[in-house]
Amino acid sequence: ALSVALTNHKDWVLYDCAMAPDPRHQEIIAAFRGGSLKGMHAVFQAQVDIESEEIIGAEALVRWQHPTLGFLTPDIFIPLVEKLGFVSQVTALMIDEAMRIAAKLRRENRPMTLSVNVSALDLAGSNFVSTLKKTVKRHKGQFCDLKLELTETSFSNESERISEVLQQLKDLGVKVSIDDFGTGYSSLAYLSMFPIQELKIDRSFVSNMLKNIKNCNIIKSTLVLADHLNLKTVAEGVEDEKTLELLRELGCDCAQGYFISKPLPEADFLSFLGRYMAT
Ligand code: C2E
Ligand code: MG
Ligand code: MG
Ligand code: MG
Repeated sequence: ALSVALTNHKDWVLYDCAMAPDPRHQEIIAAFRGGSLKGMHAVFQAQVDIESEEIIGAEALVRWQHPTLGFLTPDIFIPLVEKLGFVSQVTALMIDEAMRIAAKLRRENRPMTLSVNVSALDLAGSNFVSTLKKTVKRHKGQFCDLKLELTETSFSNESERISEVLQQLKDLGVKVSIDDFGTGYSSLAYLSMFPIQELKIDRSFVSNMLKNIKNCNIIKSTLVLADHLNLKTVAEGVEDEKTLELLRELGCDCAQGYFISKPLPEADFLSFLGRYMAT
């Protein structure tokens, strides 16, 4: 039996179908309802250009230092708020954080691309592009410093609307990457349907590619596919030097993972960049 009582019947149905009961969920839902996301912030994980070994970007990942529940990682609240239709609040906050850092780094002559996770349904929302434009303007930032990592969390019949929004983003210079490529709902159909610039190879293929020949071959094939479609490639979940070396040999463009850096709070990320540049 569920240990949470939700105030709204629609919420209850969605919750009941999809989620394992967690006593924290009720408080999380209340916070989103009231729009009080105090303590929610981004951590930053570097992305390296494998060839030049330079840090060319970072992924902004959400964390929540919740006033009463303590420290929350995205697995605890993202699936829930996606189901309930609140995820745009997280996206708006994360685009704000990413653009703030991107603008700061550009002012310091260290421009790089900050990536934010968005779900396809989120993009289809009525004022996604106008909110994004306002955020970039507020920070006096540049659209080319922003990348959206797209994931599909539920089947969407709004692909035309999504294509249209992706074209608007492309025209602005915002880059788009297909996240967790090869898993879940991400599919080859996206590649022909949507104007995108990058494939992000999922950690489940990368982290054991040295031992698992099938996963290694899947990565090789993905790199060929990306090459034929003129897409950049990023491998996520790179945990050791040998994996990085193999990805280099195979011609993967960029890497992200614990071997390079864990996701870091802003101050730590900035000092990591300083140290990295010095070496
Ligand atoms: P993702 O976008 O695929 O992010 C990569 C996840 O892998 C991150 O977990 C990161 O900490 C972890 N990771 C990176 N490198 C390594 C590695 O070398 N080894 C291992 N074992 N793990 C690694 P995190 O931060 O817990 O995020 C999990 C997922 O939550 C993300 O997967 C993304 O789908 C979602 N998420 C995170 N932040 C946001 C957000 O702001 N908005 C939305 N909508 N979803 C988010
Ligand atoms: Mg991602
Ligand atoms: Mg990913
Ligand atoms: Mg992933």
